[in-house]
Amino acid sequence: MKKSIMLFAMIVVGTLLSACNQGTTAPKEKGEKLQIVATYSIVYDIVKNVGGDLVDVHSLAPIGSDPHQYDPLPEDLVLTSDADAVFYNGLNLEEGNAWFTKLMETAGKSGEDAPVFRVSEGVKPMLLNSLDHKGEEDPHAWLDVRNGIKYTENVRDALKKLDPANAAKYDENADAYRAELQALHEDIMQKMKEIPKEQRILVTSEGAFKYFSDAYDFSAAYIWEINSHHEGTPEQLTNIISTVTSENAKALFLETSVDPRSMEMVSRETNVPIAGKIFTDSLGKPGDDGDTYINMLKWNADMIFNGLNN
Ligand SMILES: [Zn+2]
Repeated sequence: MKKSIMLFAMIVVGTLLSACNQGTTAPKEKGEKLQIVATYSIVYDIVKNVGGDLVDVHSLAPIGSDPHQYDPLPEDLVLTSDADAVFYNGLNLEEGNAWFTKLMETAGKSGEDAPVFRVSEGVKPMLLNSLDHKGEEDPHAWLDVRNGIKYTENVRDALKKLDPANAAKYDENADAYRAELQALHEDIMQKMKEIPKEQRILVTSEGAFKYFSDAYDFSAAYIWEINSHHEGTPEQLTNIISTVTSENAKALFLETSVDPRSMEMVSRETNVPIAGKIFTDSLGKPGDDGDTYINMLKWNADMIFNGLNN
């Protein structure tokens, strides 16, 4: 019932919006901030770092929620329609229930020239393996910090295009942020090398660590491959329990944005402890652990190191 009211409200608001502005935006007055919409909190944070004081950013999927499948609220539609630009991950992330495509259409931002930017442009996609989705792109590129640097460069280029008068400032912000990310990448690389190779087995609920594992030389195991698929079926649980046992995994990890019950069952069945929570598809709340992209990457590296290096 609640959903159908929401959908009706969205259609009404959408019709009103498309009747009056067709998704276009007026040129900025001097000193007026760019209004940006990001699909989830990680892209939100990268845009904030590059845009600094020159942008207002709104994250559609709120902190702690799953960006694979999101039901936009009427206020999301209003903000998206009014936004100067929309930034999204792509690589199959926002497509769980086609929410993003539908939202862009309703908000009048689906045309070829619409100011909608894919931040993963230029990232080499890794592919899903599970039978029913073999060959689809895996979205979790941001867990390899070098891809975060690529995202930063794409955000910088888009902001410069949207607001050429402030190009130098976007360059300056992006350079500082890229340097921080590059140093973090090197730190993580160094730290992960200290874990003996045979202990570098990363077990998570969702198979979000393909890019991470490729970058930092881990093998990744998971209960289900991507959140938009079936989650925690008996067959998936049997498979992961057998892998955890045969690979002698030291610890299991629980993502902050998934239901913990499946991993808790794996832990009970295998007697392998859950080392703690890690961040994959969402940041932590402001002021909490993992509340920025950099903080979440640092937190994950520490948690993985402490869980597996013993
Ligand atoms: Zn995910």
